[in-house]
Amino acid sequence: MTEHTAAAHRARPDAAAEHVQVRPAAEGGKQATDASGRPLLQFASPRRSQPETHLADLTLEERKARVVELGQPAFRAVQLSNHYFERFTADPAEMTDLPASGRNALVEAMLPPLLTEVRRLRTDAGETIKFLWRLFDGALVESVLMRYPGRVTLCVSSQAGCGMNCPFCATGQAGLTRNLSAAEIVDQVIAANRAIAQGELGGLRQSGHNAPKVTNIVFMGMGEPLANYKRLITAIRRITAPAPEGLGVSARHLTVSSVGLVPAIRRLADEGMPLTFALSLHAPDDELRDELVPINDRWKVDEALDSAREYFEKTGRRVSIEYALIKDMNDHAWRADLLAEKLNARGRGWVHVNPIPLNPTPGSIWTASTPQATAEFIRRLDAAGIPTTLRDTRGKEIDGACGQLAAVAG
Ligand code: SF4
Repeated sequence: MTEHTAAAHRARPDAAAEHVQVRPAAEGGKQATDASGRPLLQFASPRRSQPETHLADLTLEERKARVVELGQPAFRAVQLSNHYFERFTADPAEMTDLPASGRNALVEAMLPPLLTEVRRLRTDAGETIKFLWRLFDGALVESVLMRYPGRVTLCVSSQAGCGMNCPFCATGQAGLTRNLSAAEIVDQVIAANRAIAQGELGGLRQSGHNAPKVTNIVFMGMGEPLANYKRLITAIRRITAPAPEGLGVSARHLTVSSVGLVPAIRRLADEGMPLTFALSLHAPDDELRDELVPINDRWKVDEALDSAREYFEKTGRRVSIEYALIKDMNDHAWRADLLAEKLNARGRGWVHVNPIPLNPTPGSIWTASTPQATAEFIRRLDAAGIPTTLRDTRGKEIDGACGQLAAVAG
């Protein structure tokens, strides 16, 4: 028995004596299973097709080579990159520094349209905007733009659908459609910056070139980011590279979340980028997490926490543990103690817990913890010396496990 499993046995009282235990189950749908009856996990994308190569898929040098292939001087790649990454435009009519002859063809080849807006929903007095995008093959994805004091955060999708099959998640129940291309990920940020520049985000005084831009990006929209690893990293490199190569957002302001793909977490730690890593844990014990987050079948709680700790050691970046508090399912006091014990067993000062309150949904098993249970859960973590911050209400709508808790809770 390892130290951590010993801790689990010590910390767990007779559950019946303490609290009701609600077990996870898919509501309003049937969870797909594999031949052995376990929830199906999809790693390979059923749809292989990708959109046409876009400027944001390429490094600046590759863009120059492409432009030369198209019969234009290499510096046109820099001009196009400036339009896209600094002025957020792909409209040839706005690119008056490019000669009129051949301009449309060049823009068409380098900046093919990637996202078509289907719907834009505003809440929080216009300080939150949820975009629904249609991709070139009809797949739909969302991104959510939020203004907070001193920062503008965008939650982006990394896949159309998701193969991780979490029973609380509508996206997971529908399965994986395909991986997004790097440019489809980047273009969500460009589109958000364009909306801000057009004065669309409430609470911001300036529009046009002086408008604030997206300062923080969380990969918590649709999909499991680390299951689309290569394109995710390409997108991150574009987002963080200074203009004209990319958008120039600080890597420290990017958060990559995962349900716990351990080898990919290790790989991310080796990329040498000071990204924030967030582990969507939701349960400290394998018995519950096996059902709540099916990837736990592959990599157990202790392995996921070990890899999160390694992430901290390699990058020096404090890890976030995301924990959606669900009434009578994972909000028991003994689970707070067990979580604290497992985190402290791996050292101090390396981790921060974000409990995420669900919206109350009467009649559903996926409903909010009571205020008392929430307060007690946080008190126990705090008492054990674990920094803990309850997410605000906007966070709960869109930042829950990969953004999809709202699909059942909202
Ligand atoms: S919660 Fe996240 S990882 Fe789980 S199925 Fe939904 S999108 Fe995928």
